[in-house]
Amino acid sequence: MPLNVILFGPPGSGKGTVSEKLIRDFGLHHISAGDLLRAEVERHTAVGRQCAAIIAEGNLIPDSIVIDLVCKVLESPVVKERGALLDGFPRTLQQAQEIHRRGYIFDVMVVLDVDGEKLLRRCLSRRLDPVTGKVYNLLSNPPPPEVVDRLQIRSDDTRAKHNRRMEIYYEQKNALVSFYRNIILEVDGNPPMKYVYYEIKRNFLELIRAKNKYKNFQISNL
Ligand code: AMP
Repeated sequence: MPLNVILFGPPGSGKGTVSEKLIRDFGLHHISAGDLLRAEVERHTAVGRQCAAIIAEGNLIPDSIVIDLVCKVLESPVVKERGALLDGFPRTLQQAQEIHRRGYIFDVMVVLDVDGEKLLRRCLSRRLDPVTGKVYNLLSNPPPPEVVDRLQIRSDDTRAKHNRRMEIYYEQKNALVSFYRNIILEVDGNPPMKYVYYEIKRNFLELIRAKNKYKNFQISNL
């Protein structure tokens, strides 16, 4: 049985970077609700047209839309085989209750805690490469010079939108942490990423060992 993981944290807390590393080391299938929604917007689908303005304002998309998008991926064979890394979902108690009702059980919910000042700085310096989908940070992960001219700023990475997203995050956090209280792994996301990730990886290895999930799992593989 593979691991099923929820990654939860405020905007700019490093969920994207942690996701990349967890996928690399644990083979999990990444499901980012934000990426799924932005792809709908890019493709000008009916859902995308409904969501573009809501995302740009930093508000939450209606639960039923996000639940349908994410559950479609959760149902796929690759997730059943490799396990899911849910990034940015569930974000409301209703979303958590609904996926629980549909029988999706998770092993761990990583909660990244990062100071407010740092979060704002990280969001304002985030840049997206529309060609490769890679996310850079002008301060901590600068882009190579050849892609600089095509980089974009996310519509919700402004000071005002960031503040709105922080408000929503703290409105929802207690209810979600309480719902998943038996599987919470709270991690200090303030230090440099290598230390943050070391802490997460150490805990995941212990979890895997404790659950004896992977019969042929070799710790030396990592
Ligand atoms: P993110 O990429 O996780 O920062 O999400 C960007 C935006 O997508 C959010 O500000 C919301 O507008 C929307 N969004 C992402 N995940 C969810 C979710 N689980 N529920 C509702 N809206 C979401």
